[in-house]
Formats: sequence, structure tokens, C-alpha cells
Amino acid sequence: MLSTTKIAVIGMGQGGMVAAIKLANAGAKVTIFERNLEGKVGYPWRDDITASIFDDCGLPRPNQDVYIQKAKWVFVSPDEKGTLRVPQFRPFVEISPNRRKLSEYFADLAIKAGAEIKYGVCVDKLYVEDDRVAGIELNGEIERFDLVIDATGMYSKLRSQLPEKFCVQSEPSNQDTMYAYRAFFEKNDGETFLSDVDNTMVLRHMDSDGIAWCNLNDEGNVDVLLCNIARPLSDEEIEERLKDLRAMNPILSDRKLYDRKVPLSVRAGIATPVADGYVALGDSAFMTIPIMGSGIEAGMHGAAIFADYVIANDIQNFSAYNMWPFYVKYFKKFGKGFALLDIVRRHALRFNSKLINWALSGKFVNDDTLKFVMLDDEDYRRPKYKFGMFSAILWKLIFHPSYNNTILRMGFEGIHAMNVAGTIPSKYSLDEIAKWAKRYNHLFEKCEHKAAKRQAKKK
Ligand SMILES: Cc1cc2nc3c(=O)[nH]c(=O)nc-3n(C[C@H](O)[C@H](O)[C@H](O)COP(=O)(O)OP(=O)(O)OC[C@H]3O[C@@H](n4cnc5c(N)ncnc54)[C@H](O)[C@@H]3O)c2cc1C
Repeated sequence: MLSTTKIAVIGMGQGGMVAAIKLANAGAKVTIFERNLEGKVGYPWRDDITASIFDDCGLPRPNQDVYIQKAKWVFVSPDEKGTLRVPQFRPFVEISPNRRKLSEYFADLAIKAGAEIKYGVCVDKLYVEDDRVAGIELNGEIERFDLVIDATGMYSKLRSQLPEKFCVQSEPSNQDTMYAYRAFFEKNDGETFLSDVDNTMVLRHMDSDGIAWCNLNDEGNVDVLLCNIARPLSDEEIEERLKDLRAMNPILSDRKLYDRKVPLSVRAGIATPVADGYVALGDSAFMTIPIMGSGIEAGMHGAAIFADYVIANDIQNFSAYNMWPFYVKYFKKFGKGFALLDIVRRHALRFNSKLINWALSGKFVNDDTLKFVMLDDEDYRRPKYKFGMFSAILWKLIFHPSYNNTILRMGFEGIHAMNVAGTIPSKYSLDEIAKWAKRYNHLFEKCEHKAAKRQAKKK
């Protein structure tokens, strides 16, 4: 009977809120602690997700005042000469929610489910008793909980307070972080980079190991993002890169409305997110799609799998042993694929810009190639690929003498990572998990190390 359990959710991101709503609906006494004040939770902009994520999590879809149709995107090569339009799915399959309104929507559902939200409360301390998280410490007072859900994001201060034996990684590495600068500017007269596409993303912008975007948003302003892996952007670099974006996007003025430097997690899932009395969900467990750091959906999925598992198995003793199977489920469904994408990202961000210029020049893929992606009315996420498309792409890749090594190495390492991730121990044993976590974490460290070495050699 969950009604006898007291659960603390620290952080009002999507991951924490999905778990809070589902567990409160199942009868648990849920208290949510959020350091921001009411009305100030979530970023003041829009990001993209798939609308059906709400159905997947067993939650109602929000009303249309929360989101708009996802805009059209075009990828641009580093030399700014090649382009590739991203195919669009049926209307409102992919949406752009307003992040603040999305937070309010989740808050509303949580309150209706019986949860309590405490705004303006920063929880920085776990209360650990006999190697078990038994609650939180707030202003010197201990508040006991049967379970603490850590949904405070990738730089959680709570993970490092767990007893070491649980092998929960305390910090992401710099290489696991995409350092972004996002800014909004007034619009100048003029057109977007491609006049019929509002959102433009430049790959390896100015030979950086990141991207840049320059988008005309629904409010008639210009939304800019610049990012780098592993190191924050300096103010000089931001100015230089903005100058370049202005040269290619006439709409981008220098009249800034507001800006923010923000990190994103681009690491495949943490090896283990559980300790006795504790679970990390969302970015605090690196539940993101590691190519771009998209963590809204991945975090919601992870949280829903966790809550469904707890409810279905009527878990009241939140030991690491009892909770672990949820993570095995998450890993088999998403974690394996994310391990592959993590490796792909580490390689792809170091591709020679020439490779991307070639790929987007029309000689490798073009808008026509992507038109082969047939969008199925019933299940848009399983597009019917044509064999011809795959063989044409593979042929060009494998037989391109300059690049076949790079691509094949990435493919083999990615598949190996998927296999290692797939051997996640199905039963919770600290010894087994420690051994597996070492092998799993080593995948990314080794890939990073080797890729950096190869890049340095080329320079
Ligand atoms: C520029 C940018 C663009 C992005 N674009 C996309 C996108 O298009 N699609 C996508 O899926 N993802 C995107 N993401 C990633 C996405 O924002 C995150 O992956 C996602 O928000 C993580 O959700 P979360 O619930 O784990 O945590 P968060 O959203 O990070 O929420 C954590 C919450 O915890 C609170 N908190 C933190 N510490 C404490 C504490 N000690 N006590 C109390 N409260 C605390 C914070 O205030 C916050 O409300 C983007 C991120 C950025 C920065």
C-alpha cells in the first residue's frame, strides 16, 4: 500500500514531476521541493518534444496554450554552403512547449493528485542513517522520508552524499557536458537563412565542436544558441560567433532581449541511479539523448518506468535492491541505444569539417534522400525506410576513401557500447554492478581519450 509511504521529490523538472504525479495518484504522500519561486520554474523559452510522450507516460496531453507546432529546421554545413532540410512529421506530432507553462501544467497535475509543492526551498543535504538515505536536512532540521527522488538535474549536489558502496557517479565529466549560450534578440528586417525555414542549425559552427542555431520564434524574436563540448564559451568567442551568425542570417540584430549560459548533459545514462532510500531521475541520472542533450522525453520515460514499476510491485521498502529492476527495464528500452548515440556523438563532434561539408553538399544525402522517409499515419516513429535509401547511403559512406575508417570505427565502437550496456546485471548485486559499471563507464572514457588523441594528431 503506497499510501503509507512518504516520498520527497527534489526538483520540479519533468523527470521529478512525472514520478511525483504518478506516485501521488497511486496514494503515496508526495512532497515536492523546488528552489525557484512559483511561476519561475523552467526555462523562459520553448524546446522540442514528441507529443505522444504524454500518452507513453500515461498522462493527459496539455492544452494547446502550452505548446505550438515544432518549426521547420534546416541543417547547414560548417562552410555554410550545404543544407539539409529536416523532414516534418504530421502536424502536432512534434511540438514546442513553453517550458514555464509545461512546469505549471505538471504542477497542476501533481496538486490534483494530492502532492504538496514547496516553492523557494533549496534542498542541498540528504539525511543518511546507517548507509541508507532516510530523508533530507533542511535548515538544520531532519525531515524523514521513505524515498528521496533526486530530480535536481545533471549537477545534483545530492549524488555525492551517497555512501560510496552504491557506486553512484557523483559528477559528470566536462566531456559529458555541452556548454550552451542561449540568447534572444529583436528581429531585423530581412529573411531567414532559407526563406521558407524558420530554424537554422549550423553544424560545427566556425569549426567548434558544437553547433549554433538562429531561429525566428513565434513571438517574432530571434532565438540563438551557441554551444561547445567540454568548455564554456568565453565572452569573446560568443561575440565572434554571433558576428558570423549575423552575416548569414539577416534577421539577427544586435538588440539583445536576454541571454543565459546553461549546461546540458550529453552523457549516456548513469551506470546506477539507486541507493537505499534514493533514486536519481531525469538529468540527475543523465537520462538524455546524448547527441543533443534532449532530456525532457528521456527523463519523462525514465520517471514513468520507475513509478510504474514501484506501483506494479507495490514497493514500500525503497532499497536499491528492490528498485534496481526499474533501471534494467529503462536500460533495455533506452539506455542501450543511448550508449550507442553517446559514442556517435563523441566521434561526430570531432569529424573533420570537410566530412560534414561533403555530406551536406548533396553528394551524400540531400532533401530528396530524406523524402524516402515515408511517414506512417499510425506510428510516425517507425517510418518505413526504403532499402534503396539505406544501401545508397552505406555505399557512399563505406566507399568514400577518405572517410570509411572514421565511419567504420564509429560504427564498431557504437555497437560494442550497445552490447556492453545490454549486459547490465539483471539482479542487484553490489559486486556485479561495480564490475559492470567499471566496464560501462570505461567505454566513454576510452572513446573520449582515443578520439582526443586522434584529433590532436591531425592538428
Ligand atoms: C538550451 C537548452 C535547450 C534544450 N533543448 C531541449 C529540447 O529541445 N528537447 C529536450 O528534450 N531537452 C532539451 N533540453 C534539455 C532539457 O532541458 C533537460 O534535459 C531537462 O530539462 C532535464 O529535466 P530534469 O527534470 O531532469 O531536470 P531539470 O529540468 O534540470 O530540473 C531540475 C529542477 O530542480 C530544481 N533544483 C535543482 N537543484 C535543486 C535543489 N537543490 N533544491 C530544490 N530544487 C532544485 C531546479 O530549479 C529545476 O527546476 C535543453 C536544455 C537546454 C539548456
